[in-house]
Amino acid sequence: MSTSSKRETFEAAQSRSFALEAELETHPDCFRMLTGDRPTGPLHIGHLFGTLLNRVRMQELGVDVFVLVADYQTITDRDLPDELRADVLGLVADYLAVGIDPDRATIFAHSQVKALNQLMIPFLSLVSVAELKRNPTVKEEFTASGGSAMNALLFTYPVHQAADILFCRANVVPVGKDQLPHLELARLIARRFNDRFSHQRSFFPEPNALLSQAPLVLGLDGTKMSKSRNNSITLVMDEDETARLIKTAKTDSHRRITFDPIHRPEVSNLLLITSLCTGETPEVIADEVADRGSGYLKARLTEALNERLRPIRRRRREVSKDPVLLSTVLARGSEQASAIADQTLGQLRGLMNMSY
Ligand code: ATP
Ligand code: MG
Repeated sequence: MSTSSKRETFEAAQSRSFALEAELETHPDCFRMLTGDRPTGPLHIGHLFGTLLNRVRMQELGVDVFVLVADYQTITDRDLPDELRADVLGLVADYLAVGIDPDRATIFAHSQVKALNQLMIPFLSLVSVAELKRNPTVKEEFTASGGSAMNALLFTYPVHQAADILFCRANVVPVGKDQLPHLELARLIARRFNDRFSHQRSFFPEPNALLSQAPLVLGLDGTKMSKSRNNSITLVMDEDETARLIKTAKTDSHRRITFDPIHRPEVSNLLLITSLCTGETPEVIADEVADRGSGYLKARLTEALNERLRPIRRRRREVSKDPVLLSTVLARGSEQASAIADQTLGQLRGLMNMSY
């Protein structure tokens, strides 16, 4: 895809996301939100500002919230890690720490919801190999994993993700920019399923991405902040480590600090994160830092971020002391998700003349 058509796709998703914001505020009861994360390590500030805060906001608006631990997706690009269980429970701890409330939201692991995974079969019939091959995020994740050969699960990852979203007929999906190609495919699958099996009345909604003000938080090395790239500030980290790592963040050679995301992505990223912590605009912070340079900016960011994360980190320490609570939350959520997935699969089989 050319850079300009990539930009157009992003801009189209962004304007749909803006329109969605207004509707969510006025009719939260018309929405069901689903999103999730891979249990490949602790969540970082890219997650926080890219999607977690939007999830909590949806919950507070009264949207029906589903959050998924995408455990099957850990085996797309790595060996089964010994610490998977700890990573899964750690993810649940991160969710509770940021304010996702298990009494209002359904938190589940997709490996535990059998009927959800069965949706993969009809969905795989609705997309071509060429369409899957074009997915830029899969290509990027494959390259980042340094793997020797693309396995079929990684190749079909976006189809699995469509099953994750559509099993509960979610229509809003708070995600970062990297997930937009996947979401586009989920929309296509919903459309094609309806055309092929349910043309009288749309069975699946076309899910919309909800983007935040920080759809792509950069890591310390200037590439996308990712759990797997060793370039993150995590929610679980302590304040000293946060300070030490921010000192290592990549910047550029200009002393004067300005907010210019296109030409100065690394410095602008530090400004944006600071601004998301303090509520000031990145431009105001840039003017204040000005000739004091990146060292001063980093000190300003460290202070703002540690302060913003303090209550989240406190809560995370508390909930982590109670692994029974964490696994109970997950078991209960997985049971609730299974009831919905069973119902969806039953209806789907009806539409596909497969009820015998
Ligand atoms: P991994 O390296 O294992 O792929 P990740 O850090 O990319 O981990 P995911 O679990 O793949 O995290 O992504 C979970 C959600 O967080 C997705 O909605 C994704 O768009 C969002 N997200 C991840 N990284 C960022 C980031 N740097 N900025 C904004 N959003 C992000
Ligand atoms: Mg990822």
